[in-house]
Formats: sequence, C-alpha cells, structure tokens
Amino acid sequence: MKLKLISLLAAAMFASAPMAWADSVAAPDQTTASSGWAAQQAPGYYRFALGDFRVTVLSDGTAPRDVSKIMSKPDEVRAAYAASHETLPVELSINCFLIDTGSHKMLVDTGAGELFGAGSGQLVANLRAAGYQPQDIDVILLTHIHGDHSGGLSVGGQPVFANATVYVDRHDPDYWLSASVEAAAPADHKTTFVQSHKTVDPYVNAGKLKTFDGATELFPDVSTVAEHGHTPGLTGYMIESRGQRLLLWGDIIHSAEVQFRDPTVTVDYDVDPKQAMASRQRVLSDAAKQGYLVGAAHISFPGLGHVRAESKGYSWAPVPYSVMLQKPGQ
Ligand SMILES: [Zn+2]
Repeated sequence: MKLKLISLLAAAMFASAPMAWADSVAAPDQTTASSGWAAQQAPGYYRFALGDFRVTVLSDGTAPRDVSKIMSKPDEVRAAYAASHETLPVELSINCFLIDTGSHKMLVDTGAGELFGAGSGQLVANLRAAGYQPQDIDVILLTHIHGDHSGGLSVGGQPVFANATVYVDRHDPDYWLSASVEAAAPADHKTTFVQSHKTVDPYVNAGKLKTFDGATELFPDVSTVAEHGHTPGLTGYMIESRGQRLLLWGDIIHSAEVQFRDPTVTVDYDVDPKQAMASRQRVLSDAAKQGYLVGAAHISFPGLGHVRAESKGYSWAPVPYSVMLQKPGQ
C-alpha cells in the first residue's frame, strides 16, 4: 500500500471502525488477571521449515481499510466481502518473513514502524517473541518502498536493524528518493516521498542500501522476480532450499477476497495500475503452474498458501495450521 492517502484514510477508517477494533486500539492495557483477557492479540509469529532453512512469518499487525473505497470495481469488491461474511473496513494483515539460512538471517520487509500508528509497528516485538533480536538481522530484502514495507527500517530517524544491509530494486529508490520525481508529484502525493526519506535515508547515508535491476540471483538460494507496476520496482523474492521453493511476492494481492477471482481489480496505491495488473496476472499464472509455496504481505496472517487456476481467474489454498514442525533439512 502507498502512503499518499494514509493520514486521511486512517482518520476516516478509525472513525468508522467497528467498536471492537476501536476498543482494542484505544485501551490496550485493560488486562484483567481473572479472565486472562487483554484487549490485544497474542504475539504473531508462525514457524515452518523450508528445506534447510527456518522460516518465521512475523506479523507487523494490521491496517484497517475500507477496500471498496481504494480499489477499482467497488461494487464487485463490496459483493465479495459480503459473500465472505466480512464487514468493511477490514483489517489488512501486514506480514513480514524471516529466513534463517544458518549463515544469514534475512528479513523480507519491515512493516510500518511508527508510520501507521496503533495496530501496526509490531514487527520488532514479534521478532523478539520468536527468539530473535533486531541486531541479528544481517540482510533485509525489501519488496518495495512503501510505508507498510519499508517504514519499519527506522524509528525516530535511527536505523532499527544496525547490522543489516538493505536490498531493493533500483527503480524504487530512483523514484521515491528522487528530488525531481518528488517535485513533479502533486501536493497530495508527497507523503510517501517524505516518509521514504525518513526511513530509508539512514541506510543510504551509512552505505547500507544496495540495489539490483530486475530479475537476478542475489544469493545462492535467493533470486528476485520483477513484479513492477504497483511501484516501479516491486520485487518478489524466490527462496529455495533442497528443491523446496517459497515466493514472497509483496503486494501482488491486496485483497484475497477479490483479486484472485478477478486479477484486473487494481488499488489506488498502484503507481502504474496497468503494469501492476499485468504483473499480477503473470505471477498468479506462474505460481499456479509451478505449484510453489507463496508468502503474501497482505493476506490474512500468516499469509501462506498456494495459488490454484480456476475456470475464471484463480483461488487461494491456505496452508493448514501445523504444530508438528518438520526439522530443517528433511
Ligand atoms: Zn503493502
């Protein structure tokens, strides 16, 4: 998601949010020992093995959105949510992914940090709950520069991940960190540029931002998939170990309820909606044909599943919940 409308949207959405959500945001500390109830969700992390790698999905929380107001075909969007027994606004999950390869601890996306307010910015708390520390992370792979993916890089102007090198497709910093592109953008589109500087610049200044161009092999087990459109450099990361593959696709899907069945539905945050639509159709087709596992940024936590081709469009087959963890290497 793009941040240009965030402050307006956040105000509108919180105002119209259901009471349960508003209560959980406004009064997170009303714990009563007798009932065990705290008006907050339990820590959000989910583990699984991918070949030799330990993968942990980390929740950064959610962002409440009336998606019918930010997507094309609003009638179709409203009908899809009604059919799913969901009331708008919905909470869109913000999922990040930690890949522990043994030699690297790679974090794919960093959540919203302090940019989106209550409800998000929980990545570091969940990282610690999962047994890791921010200083353990040595590689950060950004799917793109947008507040809910790169916002968690820095808080208060200070880098959160002191030992990490950040990788991103060059088209995103060329756009979001460019003074000339920012100067040409309409006044109400400037927020993402400002927030990109605030959160990404500390790594640029430390010489810790590395760029690549389109599809490439970044590490022996990590290759990039060009998904440009939603932002100029949107990138998926294909992780592979012992023949098992996982595509972390970033913002190919904002609404599982709508965009699998109709991949032509676009979102206002798309920098180039036509290119975003073409990328979505290409990536969904490939995922359905090849059958690899997918980790999605905005599908309900933990956002793991497979894509199936249907007579019309596609569908999503979520991975069943598991407590019987396969040992890495098996
Ligand atoms: Zn997003």
